[in-house]
Amino acid sequence: MNSLNQAKNRRDYNLRDWLERLDKTDRLAILKPGTRLEFELAGIANRLDGTQATYFPKADGHDIPVVSGLISDRRWMAEALGLEEHELVPALQDAVANPLASVTIDSPPCQEVVHDNPDLTKLLPIPTHNEHDSGPYITAGLAITRNPRTGIQNVAIHRLQLSGRNELGALLLPRHTLSFFEAVEQDGGDLDIAIVIGTSPATLLASQAVVPIDYDELEIAGALGGAPLKVATCIDSNIRVPAAAEIILEGKILANTRAPEGPFGEFPQYYGERANNHVIRINKVTHRKRPIFHTIVGGGLEHLLLGAIPRETTILSTLQRNFTCVRNVFLTMGGVCRYHLVIQVDHPKPGEAKNVLMAAFGAHYDIKQAIVVDTDVDIHDPHKIEWAVATRFQADLDLIAIHNAQGSKLDPSSQNGISSKLGYDATVPTSAPESKFTTIRVPGEEKINLEAKVDKEASYANAREA
Ligand code: MN
Repeated sequence: MNSLNQAKNRRDYNLRDWLERLDKTDRLAILKPGTRLEFELAGIANRLDGTQATYFPKADGHDIPVVSGLISDRRWMAEALGLEEHELVPALQDAVANPLASVTIDSPPCQEVVHDNPDLTKLLPIPTHNEHDSGPYITAGLAITRNPRTGIQNVAIHRLQLSGRNELGALLLPRHTLSFFEAVEQDGGDLDIAIVIGTSPATLLASQAVVPIDYDELEIAGALGGAPLKVATCIDSNIRVPAAAEIILEGKILANTRAPEGPFGEFPQYYGERANNHVIRINKVTHRKRPIFHTIVGGGLEHLLLGAIPRETTILSTLQRNFTCVRNVFLTMGGVCRYHLVIQVDHPKPGEAKNVLMAAFGAHYDIKQAIVVDTDVDIHDPHKIEWAVATRFQADLDLIAIHNAQGSKLDPSSQNGISSKLGYDATVPTSAPESKFTTIRVPGEEKINLEAKVDKEASYANAREA
């Protein structure tokens, strides 16, 4: 495939260039110095969410500024990669299929300044976001670990509670970071980890790719950005991190150690509970000169959309491998960009829409409701989706319900993650007589030149007299 990612007009912004771009186009709010890190920073970011990114100098007097809401709109995400919005998912599909090996460089910007035995509570401006959060959280840290058997890296974002001067509490869901850790913990060993704060939009997005174990998400980031990612080796470990990153925390996930972590305000707009979770000890912090600290406000648009696009990519690829009729998918905002999926199909065979629904539930356990629609329905328009359900769906014929399946533990209506699934076939039945589902339209409506037709000089009174 001659990919979107190699197209000539591609532009992959790094973090600092992207902030400048946002500023020049009136999408970056620069706050007055001295914003409080507890609640006030998140409150301001939320109020401007989706309209403007935020830059906080001297929050609580800190030398390191905080940014938030960098990619809180699908169009911004596309723009940060030099793409159109509809090209985002295909570009990520392509990057996942054709990762680019990273290139290691010496003397990287991310190691310009080195702090041994750092006091995180003083060194970093870590905000407290939502009301019942247990305290300050690092929320935009890319956790990089290595598979102890293969050496292949993994990148993931975990919520990281500031638990002490050099200690973080981490929620590791049962995926790749956890499996690497469990492999070394069996023998009583700690697992090296690097936490990367302040990266390019491409790296952030690629970090969320839902790919099998032993796919280094940094190689996907390189492909997505159109060139191999420049990486640097950590000082205390063999982990390679994006060389241009703003801040790197080097440390270990501690064996046989668990401590209370949470609650924390999560993407479903509820709190993830307090539990005994993993502990990371930080031994070193390196950073660029005049670094920037990125925070993602829990439950904000950046949090939601960073989950949506990589999931859509994986789900679309999975469905398209099995069904030639599948054209597009969309995770709706109301479904917290995780739970409610819309699938667009082109002339499915009789019964096939139901097979597509069943495959969608298998594609990601988070999917709780899926709606299949035809290609004449704009899947990004909630009104059009509801219209398709209102006029093309009958519960006795077109509904699938599956009970007691695996769902999301963060859905408070689930029984600790055990959940029901609802599938709607809202496509026009293949057997239906054509006239029944012919949608109304006025011939020539879209071609009328309103500028030429509307009399802007006329008043109602004159029109009545004429
Ligand atoms: Mn992974």
